[in-house]
Amino acid sequence: MNKPPIRVRFAPSPTGQLHLGGARTALFNWLYAQHHGGEFFLRIEDTDRERSKEEYTGQIIGSLDWLGLQWSEPLLFQSERTGAYKNAIHKLLDNGSTYRCFLTRDELDRAREKAQAKGGDFRVPKTYRDIPLQEQKRLLNAGQSFTVRLKIPPGKTLFKDHIYGDISVNNEEIDDFIIARSDGTPTYNFTVVVDDYTMGISHVIRGEDHISNTPKQLLIYEALGYPAPEFAHLPMILGPDKKRLSKRHGAAGIQEFRDTGYSADALLNYLVMLGWNPGTEKELFTREEMVAHFDIRKVQKKGAVYDEKKLHWIAGQHLARASEDEILQAIRGEEPNWQRHAKDEYIHHVLKLMKIRGKTLNELKDMTGYFFSDPLKFDPNTAAKRWKDKSVNKLIEKYIQRLENAAKWAAADLDAALRATAEDMAVSAAKLIHPVRLAVSGQSQGPGLFELLELLGKMTCIRRLRKSLTIFPLTND
Ligand code: GLU
Repeated sequence: MNKPPIRVRFAPSPTGQLHLGGARTALFNWLYAQHHGGEFFLRIEDTDRERSKEEYTGQIIGSLDWLGLQWSEPLLFQSERTGAYKNAIHKLLDNGSTYRCFLTRDELDRAREKAQAKGGDFRVPKTYRDIPLQEQKRLLNAGQSFTVRLKIPPGKTLFKDHIYGDISVNNEEIDDFIIARSDGTPTYNFTVVVDDYTMGISHVIRGEDHISNTPKQLLIYEALGYPAPEFAHLPMILGPDKKRLSKRHGAAGIQEFRDTGYSADALLNYLVMLGWNPGTEKELFTREEMVAHFDIRKVQKKGAVYDEKKLHWIAGQHLARASEDEILQAIRGEEPNWQRHAKDEYIHHVLKLMKIRGKTLNELKDMTGYFFSDPLKFDPNTAAKRWKDKSVNKLIEKYIQRLENAAKWAAADLDAALRATAEDMAVSAAKLIHPVRLAVSGQSQGPGLFELLELLGKMTCIRRLRKSLTIFPLTND
């Protein structure tokens, strides 16, 4: 028999922005589809009118777009599918697998209290499950409100989860649950089944918190006479305290990671490692490598711990490996006018020199400022330590003289000139290196000093060194 095509979906509820957990679910679905040559769909589960907000839908779509997790059309909104749900509810009323339940909220509350007083488990009374048609009609004509409940058949419900293995539930443990509320609106478990079937979903990949919904959904598939998809539930993401990930630890929205300047590829690489690894030491993946290596059977069962240090490491590695042009495009994607006055070639040089020193695009922007304009701030500790008195000014003046006469402006020559100056003045090279760096960059650390000087160019270096003579030493005694 031919296997059905792979079709997966990500089905967020727009009751908040896309966070790490949701993004990871979307990524694993996307990877599964890409790896198997299938299709990835997006469905917005916006039936909860009070909590769903269009603004969140926009944010979720924007974040998925930024992550590059492209979905196939059509993009489905549950709020537009009321007709389909109504038809399916009627089908189930007609085929006798559901019934109208006229129990009032009061009656249910009383039954619950009674069960609790006896210390037993509460089960929804099946009062209306098998009432004669006549009686049903009478109640309907009397205008009694009702919910629609699924008649849970005897037996067991089994499924094989791709990650958690065989799962079996005794149907006796499942109440005749509601598929349509008294106002006619369908419930979550019901809409998901109708939609997954309509969309031809072959594999449902979602958070582990939905495992307990799966038997209920399987019973709905059975009642509707639809073939069920396969299931894979992903482990929870935990905070460093091994509790559910909270805002404190990074349950932050994807937008926040974007605003901090992480690249989408680095974030995806970090997300893919949250609960999955290829079974080798490899931890750094390009998008293509993720697609090639991804194997849902290698997803772990135990919760995946969010580890910010690891995110930083992965982000740093991605930045170091990215081409200068990729980095420039990524920065300009967020800030179109960034350093437009400078030549691309110069910017590329700067990025090449500096990309190994940061982990986010924002850091890179911050730490490269002095390549584009003269520093206005100078590290006061370095100034106090390395430029104590006017003797340093003498050294700098001599170095300026040599630089002015330099035949070639190349790192090796600038290095030789500095050492020659130090020798003339009978001091160690370090006595010059630190103040020179401070003067040209304002910083105590950075890339190799002579590469830095070469890149800044003669005019800029001499201008900054001269300026520094008027600024330092900070105290004059
Ligand atoms: N809308 C559900 C959620 O956001 C997901 C439903 C599903 O994947 O089946 O948790």
